[in-house]
Order: sequence, then C-alpha cells, then structure tokens
Amino acid sequence: MAKIQAIRGMNDILPDQTPVWQYVESTVRQVLGQYGYQEIRMPVVEHTELFKRSIGEVTDIVEKEMYTFDDRNGDSLTLRPEGTAGCVRAAEEHGLLFNQTRRLWYTGPMFRHERPQKGRYRQFHQIGVECFGMAGPDIDAELLVLTARLWKAFGLTEHARLEINSIGTSESRKVYREALVRYLEQYKDQLDDDSKRRLGTNPLRILDSKDPATREILNGAPLLDDYLDDESRVHFEQLKALLDAAGVSYTVNPALVRGLDYYGKTVFEWITDSLGAQGTICAGGRYDGLVQQLGGKPTDAVGFAMGLERLILLLETLGLVPEQVNNNADVYVTAMGEQAVAPAMAVAECLRNELPGVVVVSHCGGGSFKSQMKKADRSNARYAVILGENEIASGTVALKPLRNDDPQQEVNQSELASVLKGLL
Ligand code: ATP
Ligand code: MG
Repeated sequence: MAKIQAIRGMNDILPDQTPVWQYVESTVRQVLGQYGYQEIRMPVVEHTELFKRSIGEVTDIVEKEMYTFDDRNGDSLTLRPEGTAGCVRAAEEHGLLFNQTRRLWYTGPMFRHERPQKGRYRQFHQIGVECFGMAGPDIDAELLVLTARLWKAFGLTEHARLEINSIGTSESRKVYREALVRYLEQYKDQLDDDSKRRLGTNPLRILDSKDPATREILNGAPLLDDYLDDESRVHFEQLKALLDAAGVSYTVNPALVRGLDYYGKTVFEWITDSLGAQGTICAGGRYDGLVQQLGGKPTDAVGFAMGLERLILLLETLGLVPEQVNNNADVYVTAMGEQAVAPAMAVAECLRNELPGVVVVSHCGGGSFKSQMKKADRSNARYAVILGENEIASGTVALKPLRNDDPQQEVNQSELASVLKGLL
C-alpha cells in the first residue's frame, strides 16, 4: 500500500532540528520578557468572518491563501493565516483592552495556501507581538528597539536591515489612492496582470509589484508621502527621531505599503539579503482602526510578526547557530549484564539529582559491551559510565572518556557526580 505522506508545504520538524527551534524560541521569549511582554495563546481556528473583516476581502491572503472549510454545523471556519486578528478578538472578548495598555505576544503555526518554496510554506510559524492602548510613536520605537536587540542576541545585526514608512490614516490614503489610480489608468495596458486586477481592488499593492515594466511606470507615480496627513507626518518624524536617538538604523522606503488592510501610519519590515526572494524576516505596523472595526472601542494598536522558518534558515545559512545548541548527551550510562541494570539506573538517577544541568542518557535494551559502547559514541556523550559485575561488587564505576584518548578510570559511585562536575 502506498505510504501516506505529509501535506505539501507542511513540514515535520525533526529531532535534529528541534534544538535550533528551542534556542530561537527561548531567546525571543527571554528578550520579550525583559520588556514586560505577556504571552497569550489563541486557538488555531477562528470564524472565517474574523479574517475577512480584519485582513480585508481584497488581499492576497483572503482572496487566495486561506484554508477555509465548513465544520459539521455548517459554520465557515478558517485555519488562522496570521495572529493579529485572533489576538484582537481574544483580547476584546475577555476585556483586556478597555482603558488599559497591553503588551502581548504569541507563537504558533499559521496556514496559507501559497506555492511552497524555500522560506515559504503552507504551515509556517510566527512569533507575533501586539501592543494595545498606546498611541504615540514611542511604542512603535520600542518594538523596533526590541527587534534590534533580538538580532543582536542572534548575531544578526549585520544581516538585517530595517525599512520603515508611513502610510497615513485611511482618509489620507483614500485621497492618495484616487490620485494613484488616476495616474495608473493612463498606463493600464502596460501593467502586469496582477497590477491590472489590483487597480480596481487594492491599488496600493501595485506599489510593491516586482514586474519591471510596472516598476518603470511607478517611477512617475504620485508619492504617498505627498498626501500624508499632518498627524501621521508628525508621528513618523517623531518615530525617526526616537530611532536615531536609540541608535537603530533604518531606511525610509516610500513603496512599503504591506499587504493587509488594517495597517495605518507606521509600517516596517526587517529584511535580509541572505535568503533571496523570501527576505522579510519580520514585518508589522500600526493598526489603530482594527479593534473598532471588529466591534470594540477605538483602541490604538501596533504589532509585528516574525517568520520562524526564515529566521532559522538565516541563522543556519550564516552559521550562526551556537555550538552548544544540540541534542547531545553529556554522559551515557551502560549496564553490562542484567544484574547491572538496577544499579546503573540508580547511578544515573543520582547523577541527575546532583547535576541537574547535565544530560544523562541511560542505555536501555541490553546488548553486548561493543554494541552499548557504539550507542554511547553515537549519543555524542563525552563520557561513558560503565557498570558490570566487578564495579557492582566494589561500589565503583568505570568512567571512560569518549572524545579523547585519556585512560579510563575507576571512580567510587559516591564520588562520581563530583568527579564528572569537574570534568564537564
Ligand atoms: P511575504 O511578502 O514574504 O509574502 P507577508 O507580507 O505575506 O510576507 P506577513 O503576513 O507580514 O508576511 O507575515 C510576517 C512574516 O511571516 C513574514 O515576514 C515572513 O517572515 C513570515 N511568513 C509569511 N508568510 C510565510 C510563509 N508562507 N512561509 C513562511 N514564512 C512566512
Ligand atoms: Mg505573503
């Protein structure tokens, strides 16, 4: 019978990969903790309507990327393509937003039916951060300072650049949109197909078209910057000043518009040049209108999401995963003969009591001396602890170095932990 395989674009993360994931997750968790961000966990499935209403009907995500299905009651449900909508829904539903400020984060799988390729999958993982109840550019700056600290922790400072832009309020964008459409209509026939379609639906998205002919036309297009409302302009100037003061470098990219409807004012992306086309590792912006749009009170909000697959790919590509990040055992405890199994287990437990930071793997399943030592070697442990008849009789173990030629030594069981502590 044919074997059933995983769904295309949905990856297994295997044991030799999980240490890197744990390293990335724990580093991010630690940095977010330093800034007082609190974790929130939402369901993976939400009502389809939530995403339609927040992300926008005429976005790539809602038009063609969502995993939507009817459940047994006939309700339309969707596997979340991103976390912001669900986070807003949850925070609002549980009264976390009214008259309060909140700094929240979450992590987990997201689902988008895209063409799978390097750095682009159908199930992928994000760490997302959402802040509520803060209107000023200070919180925008905090998010960027925080991400800069993260890149530093990963050794990525030289490999991630920040692009920022202000896309103004929805009113100012509306006026700009009309001007842009008026301009692009003149060249309609020369636009790429996607852009032609977007002219009638989501013309701002044309600004980040990669098509050369369209790019050429865009060179003469009106600039969003010229249509920016005063409030957004001041906000943006203040943000830039805060970033300058904090020593976070950036470039202003007037074409940066982001693909989701809910953004306004500040938008930003952290981009790397080391991953080819899938170079955005972290993206976000301000979405002051969303909470109200989903039925809540007007609430200022700003956030970002980081793609974990891309971040990990980047760390691996650049050789930046620290050597200590591995699955290796430190000590491998063997038992020669059935009568040695219980004493070996007791020795291993004792080591775990006294050396809680050390990985002690017990051999299970019996076998010859040779096969047990082979397993010890494969575990990458630095020391094998060998217990046989003689050792049991004398209350000792044989301690054998596996990574150098030092001689094996006999150690009293009662002293083993302290001897190993000195060696490891
Ligand atoms: P892109 O322009 O690459 O499609 P996006 O604008 O759709 O990205 P966002 O919705 O802003 O992405 O998601 C935030 C981050 O999540 C991205 O910057 C990226 O790192 C990651 N991401 C988005 N889609 C995918 C995917 N299909 N596979 C892996 N990572 C993804
Ligand atoms: Mg996308």
